Amino acid sequence: MLSVFRDAVRQRPDMPAILYFDGSLSFSEVDKLSDQMARAFINNGLGAGDRLLMVMQNVPQFVLVLIAAWKVGAIVVPANPMYKSKEFEFVLEDCEPTIVVLQDEFYHAVGKDVTENHGVGKVYVTSEAFFQGENDPRVFGDTASGAECPEFMEEVSSLPAGDIPVIERTNTDTATIVYTSGTTGKPKGAMHSHGNLSFNAQVSREWLRMAPGEPNLAIAPLFHITGLVGNLCSALLAGSPLVLYRRFVPDMVLDEIRRHKPVFTVAPITALIALMNVPGVKPGDFESFRLVLSGGAPVPPAVRDALREKLGIIVRNAYGMTETSATVTVTPLQYEGPVDPKYGALSIGVPVFNTDIRIVDDQGKEVPAGEEGELLIKGPQVISGYWRRPEDQSIVDGWIATGDIATVDKDGWVYLIDRKKDMIIASGYKVWPRDVEDVLYTHPQVREVAVVPARDDYRGETVRAVVSLTEGATVTSDELIDYCKERLAAYKYPRIVDIIEDLPKTPTGKILRRALKET
Ligand code: ATP
Ligand code: MG
Repeated sequence: MLSVFRDAVRQRPDMPAILYFDGSLSFSEVDKLSDQMARAFINNGLGAGDRLLMVMQNVPQFVLVLIAAWKVGAIVVPANPMYKSKEFEFVLEDCEPTIVVLQDEFYHAVGKDVTENHGVGKVYVTSEAFFQGENDPRVFGDTASGAECPEFMEEVSSLPAGDIPVIERTNTDTATIVYTSGTTGKPKGAMHSHGNLSFNAQVSREWLRMAPGEPNLAIAPLFHITGLVGNLCSALLAGSPLVLYRRFVPDMVLDEIRRHKPVFTVAPITALIALMNVPGVKPGDFESFRLVLSGGAPVPPAVRDALREKLGIIVRNAYGMTETSATVTVTPLQYEGPVDPKYGALSIGVPVFNTDIRIVDDQGKEVPAGEEGELLIKGPQVISGYWRRPEDQSIVDGWIATGDIATVDKDGWVYLIDRKKDMIIASGYKVWPRDVEDVLYTHPQVREVAVVPARDDYRGETVRAVVSLTEGATVTSDELIDYCKERLAAYKYPRIVDIIEDLPKTPTGKILRRALKET
């Protein structure tokens, strides 16, 4: 990936690489600052293959630290800022970083105590305020800068640029360790090689026709593979400015959309739902977008239709996982939307180039076209393994078993059914939560929904829906049960509907069915 960045610096040194509120950094400024930062890292003993853990939102330092660490040949581990100290301890113990760089807001959560107990050589703290436009009235988080934690960027700015020893990394060297979302269990550290990342950056540029100068809005968090590759790496390769906004606050992100007029974004569907619900949002706000991808979770048809009707946004579905460096399948560009039958059926698209898929039964045997089975994937974006989990059997001969159930039609379009682990068996019948969720999403007063099993003495398991409602909604649980009863087979409709304020989500914005399941 470093050569991708160096090409961008050579080709367009003065073009903006990062747009952040009122401020911007050009490619050559990013190059210089990351050189200086690399110097600081070298001074503190960071070398090839060592891990650098960073805890940051979508701030310019994320990009600088990543590139600086790569210049030193180190492996970057972007941790999720929403982790609590126990989760940080797990990640620290797992990846054993030499250096930790924290956005100051998270200093107290991760803190000295946690890092000191894990043999970390050096902890740097940097403030999100450092690059924020001077006139920006927004309030900052819980800043920790000052005597206790000198601002890392101040130190960086005083160090010499250039002349850092060049550490060549090959395509098979590890570039990042990204922990999976933890939707189904404990997160695992997916080891991405430089080749994995640059392949999928290339997919974005070529398949999605990303062009130099076209702003790329990082709605997805950069610490998750969607933002890291779909936004950051692909923007570097395409030479497009990366629009950063710190964290996803819907009305603030809407302001940034109005300000920078991005052309491309990839977002979890929950973020698009939130944008759609910002008071005062109008179709003109999204005019600049040529491409809005939703990845990481299913797109409920009713939400897709509402986004199109209310805001003129045509959401293109993309499928991928942390272990596949993001993209595996995308709805091809020529299918612009509502009229296409495959899009109407909400396919996740077709595999991108050089990527093979298989649908297999429980014995690992390929099933005939149109039949359900587990999706297996092989391609240049698939990781070779998980960090320190040699016993893990999910990747065999380059084929990763996704844990997702899918079908492929005769034209090669893929349809994702659901996660294998989430299947509900009600009275011996198989119920996929998504089928039920899709129906509930068509109810105008339902905002978000998750369907999970509930224990039932008679049926073994029964279907339970947990929903949150739109503002001012008056619908009752019983009415929602009736609504589903009219539209779903008798074994499928939820016997229980619980209305709660907000559904639990993973820090990557996915609805966390696991947290709603009875234990
Ligand atoms: P963990 O592996 O830790 O349980 P996770 O699988 O949610 O968490 P990610 O790598 O972020 O972690 O997500 C990949 C998963 O997201 C896929 O396996 C799939 O279940 C789901 N997914 C991704 N894209 C889509 C999509 N377009 N439609 C439906 N589901 C999707
Ligand atoms: Mg997973």
